[in-house]
Amino acid sequence: MANFVIPKFQTAAVVDHSGADIRIDHEFPVKSQEELLPGECLVKLDCSGACHTDLHAALGDWPIPAKTPLIGGHEGVGIIVAIGNNTAHSPVKLGDRVGIKWLADSCLNCEDCRKGREQNCKEAKLSGFTVDGTFQEYVVSFVNHVTPIPANIPSDEAASVLCAGVTVYRAIKYSQTSPGDWIVLPGAGGGLGHLAVQYARVRGLRVIAVDTGDAKKELCLKLGAEKWIDFMECKDIVSEITSITNGGAHSAVVTSASGAGYRQAVDYLRPGGTLMAVGLPGKATLEASIWFTVFKSISILGSYVGNRQDAVEAIDIAARGQVKVHFTTKPLKDLENVYEGMKAGKIAGRIVLDLAQK
Ligand SMILES: [Zn+2]
Ligand SMILES: [Zn+2]
Repeated sequence: MANFVIPKFQTAAVVDHSGADIRIDHEFPVKSQEELLPGECLVKLDCSGACHTDLHAALGDWPIPAKTPLIGGHEGVGIIVAIGNNTAHSPVKLGDRVGIKWLADSCLNCEDCRKGREQNCKEAKLSGFTVDGTFQEYVVSFVNHVTPIPANIPSDEAASVLCAGVTVYRAIKYSQTSPGDWIVLPGAGGGLGHLAVQYARVRGLRVIAVDTGDAKKELCLKLGAEKWIDFMECKDIVSEITSITNGGAHSAVVTSASGAGYRQAVDYLRPGGTLMAVGLPGKATLEASIWFTVFKSISILGSYVGNRQDAVEAIDIAARGQVKVHFTTKPLKDLENVYEGMKAGKIAGRIVLDLAQK
């Protein structure tokens, strides 16, 4: 069995109270093997993706508060270097490379867990929100929920699959579509959107990418979108989509952080179509015509991240090279800058923080 040397202190990006700036702490304590509880594992991280949710958590702008002080991050990949004593039937072992996703742990015994909706478990622990996350060198996680990472995908390529990828993968999986159906992806050129285009193609769907700007247009078409709509140039998105699809799209996966994208979707879906609501705007409400929702037999479904199986499937598809994350690597100390970029809407693709080098 591998024997790992675990330091007493590490570098971590700490938010002391909600709304505070990031503080890089070079002497943040690392839990020793003896301090881990049964079922816990210590993961030495290679890298972590940065997600918009981390910014929400740091700012405290959601209806549920995050813990403070907080270490954010929920797209981490690294090696298990310790497991708590008296951990029974661990599905992972020392030296395994694993991913840490938003859903850090759940009870596995309640109705939601038994039905595979682990993310709705009342005992759910959330990385970088209710427990410290992956913006540190060593993170405590949970043997039953870490995602095994196959050997044929590098850690930095796997990182953003764990939240952005899993989230859109699950939404598309439950979008009630069949190969050959039309799916509309608003925000298709963004962090979640560019992965949604690829997962939709893997499932044989015909993609209408909606976003703005030549760079995003080029990216979406390169990734396999069949049609492109620039929402800044198109005067009537609903009639454009209705015409392209000869009567309306079969589904739309809306990741946007505003209410408008949702309302429009009900209008451009064909009868029997499915609106997958994925974005988590803190305050926006979903306003849809009840009359048309009923008359067109529209399904409106919420899809919240993914369970262990969704994570395994999303990672497996990426590991086989069918989905690739477009990302830029930065050091942990740049996290505050990354948040500034997110606030300004200036981040293209995803950001992955390198935790292996100081
Ligand atoms: Zn996320
Ligand atoms: Zn549960």
